[in-house]
Amino acid sequence: MPVTDRRRFPPPTLPEGVGGPASEELRRRLYLAALGAGAVVLALVWLLTWQRGPYDPYVLYAHPLLLLMCLWTAAWLLRRRSLVVAERVVFVANVLAIGAQMALSLIAPEAAALGLASAAYWMLVALSILSYLLLSARGALLVSLGLYALCVALPWTGLALRGRGPGDLPELVRVQLTCGAILVLLYGLAWYRQHFLLERGERLTLEALANTDALTGLPNRRALYAAVERLLEPSGPYSGQPACLILLDLDHFKGINDRYGHNAGDAVLTQAATRLREHLRGSDTVGRWGGEEYLIVLPGADAAGAEQVAERLRREIGHPPFPEVGRVTASLGVAQAEPGDDLDRWVARADAALYRAKATGRDRVCVGGPPPEPVGG
Ligand code: GH3
Ligand code: MG
Ligand code: MG
Repeated sequence: MPVTDRRRFPPPTLPEGVGGPASEELRRRLYLAALGAGAVVLALVWLLTWQRGPYDPYVLYAHPLLLLMCLWTAAWLLRRRSLVVAERVVFVANVLAIGAQMALSLIAPEAAALGLASAAYWMLVALSILSYLLLSARGALLVSLGLYALCVALPWTGLALRGRGPGDLPELVRVQLTCGAILVLLYGLAWYRQHFLLERGERLTLEALANTDALTGLPNRRALYAAVERLLEPSGPYSGQPACLILLDLDHFKGINDRYGHNAGDAVLTQAATRLREHLRGSDTVGRWGGEEYLIVLPGADAAGAEQVAERLRREIGHPPFPEVGRVTASLGVAQAEPGDDLDRWVARADAALYRAKATGRDRVCVGGPPPEPVGG
């Protein structure tokens, strides 16, 4: 019976895509696309304002600065520098831009004030999206709400200073309400995304645990079934190619336990697993079949190739000696897939070959085996 010692339990690794390098790369590309589009818009608006007017100090002076920020950040990202630094720079630049627009709207003529305030709201939406990427959903909500409150309060303060009421500028009310609704929607999406990722991460972790042997960290028997079945699929990616199984059993393992104790036996099982894993190709699978037995799945290998692999693994187990118990040997049975095989027949042939290796002296590799008895025969 395998012993489940919690201290030795290998920590599960989260699959790619859950906040890993893949999502960082995706963000880098998205930012580059957004910065490129932003730079084009900033330059066009600046050109049009410069040529045709009306005179707008914000566009004429702030747009070139924002354009510089876009170019600098794009170059930073293209040089594959830190994503977080780029995000913070864009964040701060946007906060300053919104602040500048709001401050100008306080002193600008009425028509220009409305234009400035409206533009600031769309920047606020972009800034909120960025803060949901940078911060937790709660933190981003607080930042968005704070800036939104400022963006609502300032224009009305400006109007009040001029002795005007909300009824005078229904357009401003409409823009503010629309922006508020979009911010609420963004929070809803961010909340959903956070919960979705959490649940997905938990599900994938549970799945990884269900397929992992607790002692060695290797795929367990359940995972091996799936790996073998994949090779047997008639229209699967490996159909038409040879494939082999190697069943490896440590010799006289009961004696190791008896002489050195169960913990030493566990250490040997774990170190043997590492030796096997380190001496196989990435496309091969090694898993714990049970007790002191390992199953190795070799797609694309014929019997001669698999025999060579098995010999190599036998040598790796046999040398160097294990620190806790000295030299350990292994017996291995190799079986190539045959037409009409199912999992049981194929494994039974590998088992028969392993049995011969044991019966003929252990510490050796045997290939093939007698076909299993027909069912009910
Ligand atoms: P053979 O050379 O014929 O394979 O002999 P063996 O002693 O290796 O085989 P046997 O089936 O008689 O004994 C296997 C032993 O493996 C008995 C069992 O206690 C031990 N074992 C199985 N799982 C574990 C484990 O997780 N940890 C430890 N320490 N021992 C285990
Ligand atoms: Mg055994
Ligand atoms: Mg054994």
